[in-house]
Amino acid sequence: MTDRKAQLAANLAQVEERIASACAAAGREREEVTLIVVTKTYPASDVRILSELGVRDVAENRDQDAAPKAAECADLPLRWHFVGQLQTNKVRSVVGYADVVQSVDRSKLVTSLSTAAVRAERELGCLIQVALDAGENGRGERGGVGPGGIEELAAIVADSPGLRLDGLMTVAPLTGPYADRQQAAFERLMDLSTDLRRAHPAANMVSAGMSADLEQAVAAGATHVRVGTAVLGVRPRLG
Ligand SMILES: *Cc1c(COP(=O)(O)O)cnc(C)c1O
Repeated sequence: MTDRKAQLAANLAQVEERIASACAAAGREREEVTLIVVTKTYPASDVRILSELGVRDVAENRDQDAAPKAAECADLPLRWHFVGQLQTNKVRSVVGYADVVQSVDRSKLVTSLSTAAVRAERELGCLIQVALDAGENGRGERGGVGPGGIEELAAIVADSPGLRLDGLMTVAPLTGPYADRQQAAFERLMDLSTDLRRAHPAANMVSAGMSADLEQAVAAGATHVRVGTAVLGVRPRLG
């Protein structure tokens, strides 16, 4: 085993242990939570190692980095999640490799994703990104729609050819009423998910929790956690 592989294996084992403990503490089955490893800023060689170590879900937040990486890793049995703010001029590229876009937050983006998915003859999973620092009907500074905007956006996704409404995603807010209250933020997301599932029962993905707060996300009921730093190390630059 290379040094890097041994290091990633050890980190993965630690994260796995944290998820398992959090599930046990919450009375949940381990299978209820999927680990998505956020590989942004790390090279394709790391993605390949992670795949060898059994990782099946990876996430990226910038198309410029993700597109060549995904192309290099096209032979691997991976699901690619796009988790960054997405401009419509990047949509066509993202739809070429992403299985799920977790950062859907406006109708113009939905239209553009739908057109690209139909053209590529792909079905694209979509999560509505919820901003919990934006007020009911505001928009998050780092993307996302306020809780009041979920229903309308969900209906548009559900009616768009080529798209599948999979659920909700959030990033714990740094400001506003949920600052430093990750678990409360994730519980609010769960309540919003319950509302969403009344109209869209299959949209049951709840993506929440990162390296620092995955326990709180699992406790609240998240189905997917997105972990970067705890698996790959502290990123060399902001990303
Ligand atoms: C970078 C990123 C993560 C992972 O964050 P870590 O703190 O490194 O685990 C999760 N979600 C999103 C949207 C990200 O951009």
